[in-house]
Amino acid sequence: MAQHFLLSSKAKTLSLRSVFSMSEERAYAKFKRIRWISTKGRPVCPKCGSEKHWVLIADRKWKCSVAKCRTQFSVTSGTIFASRKLKFRKILEAIAIFTNGVLGVAALRLQREIKVEYKTAWVLAHKLREAMGIDNHDDFDELDGVVEVDGAVFGGKPKRIANDPVNWEGLRAASKAEQLAKKRLIVVVREREDEARDRPARVRTFHLSKEGDAVPIMRKLVKQGSIVHADEASQYDSLHGYFDTKRINHSKSYSDGIACTNQAESFFSRMRRAERGVYNSIGRGYTSYYASEMAWREENKRRPNGDLFGMILSNALASPISRRLKGYWQRQGSDNCADPDKAELIRALNLGR
Ligand SMILES: [Zn+2]
Repeated sequence: MAQHFLLSSKAKTLSLRSVFSMSEERAYAKFKRIRWISTKGRPVCPKCGSEKHWVLIADRKWKCSVAKCRTQFSVTSGTIFASRKLKFRKILEAIAIFTNGVLGVAALRLQREIKVEYKTAWVLAHKLREAMGIDNHDDFDELDGVVEVDGAVFGGKPKRIANDPVNWEGLRAASKAEQLAKKRLIVVVREREDEARDRPARVRTFHLSKEGDAVPIMRKLVKQGSIVHADEASQYDSLHGYFDTKRINHSKSYSDGIACTNQAESFFSRMRRAERGVYNSIGRGYTSYYASEMAWREENKRRPNGDLFGMILSNALASPISRRLKGYWQRQGSDNCADPDKAELIRALNLGR
């Protein structure tokens, strides 16, 4: 039997010791090198892209010298780490720990591993998930070949019901309704793995109100001429108008030799294991963050962890300031839970594909 990838030496190129023993200066140099990769670490204005600048604080803060710009910036300006308070090495430590959790890393664990406040770890982990989601939402290449689509609901635990023989049924129905209201639908659109292809099969996730909303998204996301596999849910019927579509009736079998959505199901089983085994629960309003994280991990599961570490840092430095997470704890109770279902659909349809 072939060796599991995570057991092979190829999988292990990241040394936690080298990250944790890094000086703050070296960590800072790494940020500069990755942020400004094309100029080998030389500062570039985040607003106009000019390399001409004045130095405000040696090796820390610059001012763009282009007359119409004059933007002041640092290595994290305009990125998801803007206004950071953590040391650069601490952020790298967090990324290293986060990289190695193949089913994710809970904030409760992260705060212990890198010794920070729980709130700090919570926001940082969500920022890393948001950065992982860049590929999920901003990769404009269409999916092709054989593509599977499926939906599953996450979040919302059944409430414990007191043993009241008089109104037990009523309480049970109310608890179920409450649970359903808390649940969030995730739809995955996944290329089937194909060894002839020289890149990993792509996994894209969407947080939607109903599975049928995936059809207009797929018209933009999936290349014409691809073969689509879906289950028998009637919301997928209109896919036949756009793609060669195969359907599998899950009440009869999971694969009939013609159609199956097993790779989409296997993505959900990874997410379910993460929900139950790592996160305990998936927070309302953030289901799409966990889905993006799991899609990214699934897609890159055969890459060495040293590469994954670099990819997360590079995605984070390419991610803009997070509108949802910036100053999250300072503005608790404001607009954090703006209708995520609607926002997700609008974002997916405006990809410009
Ligand atoms: Zn500028």
